[in-house]
Amino acid sequence: MCQDPIQKHKILGQRLNSSQGLRPRSAKGISVTVMRCTKCGLIYSNPQPVPYEINDHYGIPPESYWVPEYFNVDPNYFSIQIAKAKKLLPFREGMNALDIGAGIGKSMISLEREGFTAFGAEPSKPFYDRAIGKMNIAPERLKNCMLEDLEYEPESFDFITFSAVMEHLYDPDAAIKKALNWLRPEGVIHIEVPSSDFFLSRVFNFYFRLRGTTYVTNISPMHSPFHMHEFTLKSFLENQERNKYRVVDHTIYPANILKVPRIFHSLINWYMKATKTGMQLEVWLKKTP
Ligand SMILES: [Zn+2]
Repeated sequence: MCQDPIQKHKILGQRLNSSQGLRPRSAKGISVTVMRCTKCGLIYSNPQPVPYEINDHYGIPPESYWVPEYFNVDPNYFSIQIAKAKKLLPFREGMNALDIGAGIGKSMISLEREGFTAFGAEPSKPFYDRAIGKMNIAPERLKNCMLEDLEYEPESFDFITFSAVMEHLYDPDAAIKKALNWLRPEGVIHIEVPSSDFFLSRVFNFYFRLRGTTYVTNISPMHSPFHMHEFTLKSFLENQERNKYRVVDHTIYPANILKVPRIFHSLINWYMKATKTGMQLEVWLKKTP
């Protein structure tokens, strides 16, 4: 994201390409080195996993995805983000939105409901098929395609969203460049990613060190559908200098702490809010002229 040379980066530790649990020494798998850029806080694995073919990444989703409830679209689905996009634009009826990593099309449905003309791209064939077949997304609006192969005319969209996408990409910088090219001059890009500074990652990493190991829990999962990166706000602030945009807003969400006993939840949530060490980072980008 900032192009700082890798020689300057810090080694955080190692992690397995399988669930490593709390006793990674007794778990089996291939371990990779996890590194952190000292300039912008980007976390990544070295080397990065290369799938034999794309379906090794996104091909076979767990059956739990396909329970009937999964196909219900909550009226509030993606509503906070849509409201914010409308405010930042400002919004006019019929503006074009693009959802990268559209899944089965839930956000596209919410965007349409809120007055956008929604387009999407989804690399996974099972998700794409269900978006068309079960969710009635128009096939001409949704592409079954990797971002790397995706093409649109320059300045086609007012709002582009990447939810849970950037962490799966080999080259997030190239993805941002591509999206900026598709964005209209007054448009806005929304990106949601895992945060490098997540408090519970630090707690687990500390625990692993106490046990005398060099394991870390960052960039989980290191198996299908692989995470390649974690980000900080600084990653984007450094990147904006190179790519002609500015971060106009950001939020850090405490999110998932299910592994921790319930009694600690409100305390940990409060701490993560106060120290900006929640699990998910959301940034909003606008082009600079
Ligand atoms: Zn960096």
